[in-house]
Amino acid sequence: MIKKLDKMEDSKPFLSADFKTEIHKDSTHIMGFCFDGTTSFRPGARFGPDALRDASFGQETYSPYLDRDIQDYNIIDCGNLPIYPSKWKLTNEYFHDITKDLNLKSDRVKILTIGGEHSVSYGPIRLCLDQYDDLFILHLDAHTDLRDGYLGEKFSHASIIRRVWDHMTENNELLQYGIRSGLKEEFEFMQEHKTQATSLDECLQKIKAIPTDRPIYMTLDLDFFDPSFMPGTGTPEPGGENFHSFIKIMKILKEKNLVGADIVELAPMIDTTGNSSVFAAKVCRETLLALQ
Ligand code: MN
Ligand code: MN
Repeated sequence: MIKKLDKMEDSKPFLSADFKTEIHKDSTHIMGFCFDGTTSFRPGARFGPDALRDASFGQETYSPYLDRDIQDYNIIDCGNLPIYPSKWKLTNEYFHDITKDLNLKSDRVKILTIGGEHSVSYGPIRLCLDQYDDLFILHLDAHTDLRDGYLGEKFSHASIIRRVWDHMTENNELLQYGIRSGLKEEFEFMQEHKTQATSLDECLQKIKAIPTDRPIYMTLDLDFFDPSFMPGTGTPEPGGENFHSFIKIMKILKEKNLVGADIVELAPMIDTTGNSSVFAAKVCRETLLALQ
């Protein structure tokens, strides 16, 4: 054990993971961010982490897609960060506090964040940007998230990628895919900086071209998927991707150097069938396995 986390909140662990409020070497850590304080349309993502964990109990630990099994790896569920309703700054500062003295690379520590709304990804992405000079950021989402603030909130869910962009250098690269909604200016931003892949093929080719040892972070907003598969999200957008496209991406990432990831914007109560939580839990299993 390299760090004890004092304030984490108890929860049932994700599928076969160990529940420990500790950071260990050579391990992947799940952390829940139950925060949806800047949500503009339909709130409820604060219930995402526990709904995703609950839905994981019906799953197999083995993925036939990636031919890997959760049970064969060191996966720790650290529970949820202490919730500060509507207090993005405090939530983010707490994450910063518990992770700032970690050395992700030399200790082979990985973190998979589950949200919560997309603004929670800021801390985890910054942590990886600080520790991996040449980090490549893969952003899967229906929305550009490139607004320079939204509804008076600089660190809004709608501006998360713009806030990450503030910290990127010429050594970093951003690839956005699944995008089908945003302001004209945001689309112009993507064009100017050549960050968008406009077809699945283009996206796959660009990920394939990343050198095997280059560190990659994946930030996945679940509204990337079509609302017919994933209705349980705050701002659904027609015309999204399906699970098989996601698996194509994960099969490539499995062979690369994925160093961190987040899965955000599951709002389970919006989908009363519970299917969105099951879908998100499966996406979580594949992501954990691609991180190994
Ligand atoms: Mn989105
Ligand atoms: Mn988003």
